[in-house]
Amino acid sequence: AKEPVRVLVTGAAGQIGYALVPMIARGVMLGADQPVILHMLDIPPAAEALNGVNMELVDAAFPLLKGVVATTDVVEACTGVNIAIMVGGFPRKEGMERKDVMSKNVSIYKSQASALEKHAAANCKVLVVANPANTNALILKEFAPSIPEKNITCLTRLDHNRALGQVSERLNVQVSDVKNVIIWGNHSSTQYPDVSHATVKTPSGEKPVPALVADDAWLKGEFITTVQQRGAAIIKARKQSSALSAASSACDHIRDWVLGTPEGTWVSMGVYSDGSYNVPAGLIYSFPITCRNGEWTIVKGLSIDDFSRKKLDLTAEELTEEKALAYSCLA
Ligand code: NDP
Repeated sequence: AKEPVRVLVTGAAGQIGYALVPMIARGVMLGADQPVILHMLDIPPAAEALNGVNMELVDAAFPLLKGVVATTDVVEACTGVNIAIMVGGFPRKEGMERKDVMSKNVSIYKSQASALEKHAAANCKVLVVANPANTNALILKEFAPSIPEKNITCLTRLDHNRALGQVSERLNVQVSDVKNVIIWGNHSSTQYPDVSHATVKTPSGEKPVPALVADDAWLKGEFITTVQQRGAAIIKARKQSSALSAASSACDHIRDWVLGTPEGTWVSMGVYSDGSYNVPAGLIYSFPITCRNGEWTIVKGLSIDDFSRKKLDLTAEELTEEKALAYSCLA
């Protein structure tokens, strides 16, 4: 039998945490033959709710779940973890300045970086979900210098999956037949959902999405804004932010990172930029990614037209500003 993998979820008593931990315990993230030990962290005001989640995990009797560590102690939470899903973060409340939210999150991610660096298992893989996800991941990287930068990522898979969903609805095809959309840049409203290289599997072979849609105005307009603003549309409908789809996409992100992407398919992940596609190096930026043997690689050499170029640059500019703001909070 396989050794259990220790998976940390921070903010585990929150909405996304509540949807995510049962998926992990059921094998959705790491496979139906992979036992797991869940580490759940939350802050003291959420300790009772966290205990409630822990009770439900007992009640669900998940065969793969070999243990639970539910705690408000960051060191205990981080000790020995192989995978860390960082969902906890300070939410933006009405009337708060961007700088205030940033400042709260910078200090959270700085202290969690130190705990992970000192106490996580060697080669721990980190996924940041909490917003501002890219910049929180960057701060985590800066304050955990001994964790390789290739091990620190942020979630743009939800945006990627939303783009697949929109194309599938528009063309009335199965979502599983659509692939290779790209989310470029920031997990924010400046993200660029790009279908230039996306394809659909049809009975007569793979066809490019732009040719099948044959409506440039939709692809360059409504499609992009729908994906960018989908989070707000869910809040409007549900009166709460998206949690089920965020949790499911976090599982997709880790599963593909650990077990690999299918041949000929890429996904979107926020990773440390090496300057590919003239994106400034040293930002956490979402790129097209393939994974193999537990390592990700940026897909190189895709053509970028003028329309796309502007969008890639715009979201990079926002990330450069966020980085400066984060650093000004540290000073
Ligand atoms: P959620 O579980 O709904 O969201 C958690 C974080 O994920 C937020 O930062 C949220 O950003 C972000 N996020 C990223 N993508 C999405 C998406 N698609 N949909 C929704 N959220 C997304 O928040 P809750 O308030 O329910 O739970 C947060 C938990 O974190 C609580 O249990 C709380 O106690 C804990 N917490 C921990 C802190 C710490 O570690 N020091 C500090 C503060 C809270 P956004 O805010 O933009 O929606």
